[in-house]
Amino acid sequence: MTQIHNLGYPRIGGDRELKKAIEQYWKGHLSEAQLQEVGRAIRLENWKTQIDAGIERLPVGDFAWYDPMLQLAQSFNVIPKRHRSHQQASPLAQLFELARGASHCCANQAAMEMTKWFDTNYHYLVPEFEADQPFSLGDSPLLAQIDEAKALGKPLKAVLTGPLTFLYLGRNDSDNILHRLDELLDVYAQLLNAVADKGVEWVQIDEPILALELPLEWQQAFSHVYTRLATLPIKVLLTSYFGAITVDWPTIASWPVAGLHLDLVRAPEQLEQALRYWPSDKVLSLGVIDGRNIWRSDLKATINALETAQQNWQQQLWLAPSCSLVHVPVSTEREQLLDEELLSWLSFAKQKLSELVCVAHYLDGKADERDSHWLAQSQQVVATRQQSLRITDHGVRDRVMQLTEDDFHRATAYVERAKLQREALNLPRWPTTTIGSFPQTADIRQHRAAFKAGRITPAEYDDFIAAQIDDVIARQEALGLDVLVHGEPERNDMVEYFAPLLQGVAQTQFGWVQSYGTRCVKPPVIFGDVSRPKPMTVRWSAYAQSKSAKPVKGMLTGPQTILNWSFVRSDLPRADVADQIALALRDEVSDLERAGINVIQIDEPALREGLPLQRHQWSAYLERAVRAFRLSASAVKDSTQIHTHMCYSEFNDIIASIAKMDADVITIETSRSAMKLLDAFEAFDYPNEIGPGVYDIHSPVVPDATWIEKLLRLAAEKIPAERLWVNPDCGLKTRDWPETEASIKVMVDVARKLRQQGNH
Ligand code: GLN
Ligand code: ZN
Repeated sequence: MTQIHNLGYPRIGGDRELKKAIEQYWKGHLSEAQLQEVGRAIRLENWKTQIDAGIERLPVGDFAWYDPMLQLAQSFNVIPKRHRSHQQASPLAQLFELARGASHCCANQAAMEMTKWFDTNYHYLVPEFEADQPFSLGDSPLLAQIDEAKALGKPLKAVLTGPLTFLYLGRNDSDNILHRLDELLDVYAQLLNAVADKGVEWVQIDEPILALELPLEWQQAFSHVYTRLATLPIKVLLTSYFGAITVDWPTIASWPVAGLHLDLVRAPEQLEQALRYWPSDKVLSLGVIDGRNIWRSDLKATINALETAQQNWQQQLWLAPSCSLVHVPVSTEREQLLDEELLSWLSFAKQKLSELVCVAHYLDGKADERDSHWLAQSQQVVATRQQSLRITDHGVRDRVMQLTEDDFHRATAYVERAKLQREALNLPRWPTTTIGSFPQTADIRQHRAAFKAGRITPAEYDDFIAAQIDDVIARQEALGLDVLVHGEPERNDMVEYFAPLLQGVAQTQFGWVQSYGTRCVKPPVIFGDVSRPKPMTVRWSAYAQSKSAKPVKGMLTGPQTILNWSFVRSDLPRADVADQIALALRDEVSDLERAGINVIQIDEPALREGLPLQRHQWSAYLERAVRAFRLSASAVKDSTQIHTHMCYSEFNDIIASIAKMDADVITIETSRSAMKLLDAFEAFDYPNEIGPGVYDIHSPVVPDATWIEKLLRLAAEKIPAERLWVNPDCGLKTRDWPETEASIKVMVDVARKLRQQGNH
């Protein structure tokens, strides 16, 4: 019999209960005991959902208050020095301080750093390994959670991030963190012994770094780690996901683990290797239901693909989703706005469990009525989705087919364009601008909520937005900025805003996914060919422009960013979907230009995060991403200036591609690295204009004029001053007005001073 298990279930709760409760607790409206109770209820509900669906071995330890990496760091006493001196009320209070930062008695305890979890949109907290902080087993909530789960009377499997992934993803102050591996393994051993003492037979040890191209010493460390863990009285299921294991198969087969999990959705070719190398008397767990996307599976095809595996491993075959289900929303059941057809194509965490169970039951020849229902639905969807008229838009397909190389290039080279733009826009040296958004005040959020709830009419809402734009234009004129923005008051989120305006893209009501901590996002669903039935941003941009004699920037989100922050259809290559989005944006760019907008910014903050996990796939990705950007941007006149914006701090390895985007101006994040970032641009001899962010918008602190001046002078050593712009690091929507105006004033004053000094 095939064993059905699950790697992890969304911890946010069906109605984001966890988020809501934690935020209440932070505000002091909920006691810690009450918060603990909410956590317990969510865990219980999740286990019951899994039992009802037919999951035979329940995961324990997939729950985390804020982040599993943070939880593990705390359990092993990996606490940064700056957080150590203060006595905490409870481990939970400490956990939240580590995540969010704190200030106790004159000292500021900065939060732990957060970064993206592989190529997902989830962010984990980065463990900080300090040489003077030994690993030791502190308070681990896992043991108490095992007691809770045991009461349900089902076989359990503890879930733990593996020691190598933990070390690899952390930050350390020693040269080679692998020196501390044995010390760490002692602590893992202690914890796992305690888990085994509770009668838990299996532990799932997640080592997603197996899908990365690892340095040899890290590859070799696997053998050491798992030989050591094999001596413990618990069976280890070594768990990989997000791609094929990069270590060679004879080596994998030599690791003394009791079981191995493979992600067959991302890397189906692994099955063939496993058949060749993985012993049939050891457990093989196959991830066959996509934990990263929201489409209903082709169950018949999945069952068929597993027949050989079942014959080979028989009792030792386990089935699971490809990875933890935390990357998909909880359940489709509450969705009411999506039409029936589209809804029938979707499968969120809860539905995925049933799909998985259906596959296993058919394989074992014990399918019941429920399973046959899931299979029938799957077959129905497979048969109809391909033919559905809403997937294929011949107009879009024809346009893509007819694209020629010219569509991907501006008509004239940058050097020529720049002259025309300078004349047309009449900008001073050191031109100043901002990145797009201005403070999203409580007033704005209340009006948007009232509009959505129908408490104010569309006309009232429009009047309100117009008044907001009047206000930001007036403020920017008063501040003396050179290129203005409309402030984005009508946008909640830079991707979500475009979803309802694009054909082929849908927005769910409850499709929340944890992004980090208590922050959840609702990614749009790109289900069909994408097009733009009518202008999306022209109205407010043109309105803003009508209020000023200075240029007002049009503001769009780029193809790669829309793609990356959405759930994307699986029946078309992602790069092809990006081209379709680019075409829609191209029309928007042309309409903006026609409406008198002479500067248009196409934001691509997600371009870098879309990079594949393995480097050898980077160039193919970058090539298409750059082309999609250019497709969106290239239809304009020479005198129209295209900007792009990227808020990150690492360009060295992609600078050639950034240059190929051929944006007239790129604004980037540089203030925190004190312009170090510009080294890449200097070394590469980046040809176009750059706006290196001169102050960090993540901080409420008003920047210092001398500091900004110093940064700009540093920048001018690397990039000719006539190609430099002056702007903040990123959009200002999270800031308040007083600090925003004060900061911009400092920035504009510095630019004026530099102009007067003729520093160029
Ligand atoms: N234009 C957007 C803003 O200013 C850019 C946001 C981003 O880079 N993430 O808010
Ligand atoms: Zn940004």
